[in-house]
Amino acid sequence: MADGGPLGLLGGTFDPIHHGHLRLAEEAAEGLGLGGVRLIPSGRPPHRGEPASSPGHRLAMVELAAAGNPLLEVDAAEVADPRASYTVDTLERLRGELGAARPLVLILGADAFAGLATWHRWRELFALAHVAVANRPGHAPHARRWPALLDAALDDACSPRLTTDEQALARAPAGSVVPFEMTPLAISATRIRELLAGGHSARYLLPDDVLDYIWKHSLYR
Ligand code: ATP
Repeated sequence: MADGGPLGLLGGTFDPIHHGHLRLAEEAAEGLGLGGVRLIPSGRPPHRGEPASSPGHRLAMVELAAAGNPLLEVDAAEVADPRASYTVDTLERLRGELGAARPLVLILGADAFAGLATWHRWRELFALAHVAVANRPGHAPHARRWPALLDAALDDACSPRLTTDEQALARAPAGSVVPFEMTPLAISATRIRELLAGGHSARYLLPDDVLDYIWKHSLYR
C-alpha cells in the first residue's frame, strides 16, 4: 500500500464481507485522497450478537476480498485479541504503530455513524482520527442532512467538525467529520446470510472467491 496520504480505516463484522464494503473502501480512497484503506475485522463486536461465522473465517474472507487490490490491507489484530473489540482501543494502537502525525480516517456507513454516540469512549475518537461518513440505502441519517435524525450529543460533537473540504483530511491528523457520497448499494451481510440460509444465490453481491470460501466451509447454511 502507498504510504502517501491519509490512511483510511474500515472496521466491520464482515459476516461476510461484500461489495458494499469494498466499494465503500474504494470510493473513500479515491474520493478522499487516501493512501489506502485498512480493513479491520472485529473479533468480538460488543454492539451486536455473536456473528454467524467465527473470527477466523471472517478474517479469511476479508483477506480473499482484499487480495490483488494494492489500496487495501488487512489488520488482524482485533481478531487475534480475545477481548471485546473497541474502536478507540484500535485507534490508540494504530497511533502507537503509525505515530501521531499520520492522518487517519475512520470510514463509516450512515447506519454505523448514527450509532456512534453509543460506542465506548466515543468522544475520544475525534482526537485520534477524522471520521468520513458515506450514504447507505435504507439508512437516512447521512451526515449532510443529519439534523433531527441524530442523537443530540452526537450532533453537538460533530457539527463544529463538519467539513466538505476533503483536503482538510491531509492537513491534520484527526478531528474533522467529512460526509461523502458513494454509489448507493443496498447490500448487507444480513441479506446475504438470509439468502444463503434459504438456499438462494448470493452471487454478484460479494466476490466470487468469498462465495467459494463460504461453500467450501459450509458457512451460513
Ligand atoms: P450486517 O447486515 O451483518 O449488520 P453490514 O452489511 O452492515 O452487516 P458491517 O460489517 O456491519 O456490514 O459494516 C461495516 C461498515 O461498512 C459499517 O460502517 C457499515 O455502515 C458499512 N457498510 C456496510 N455495507 C454498506 C453499504 N452497502 N453501503 C455503505 N456502507 C456500508
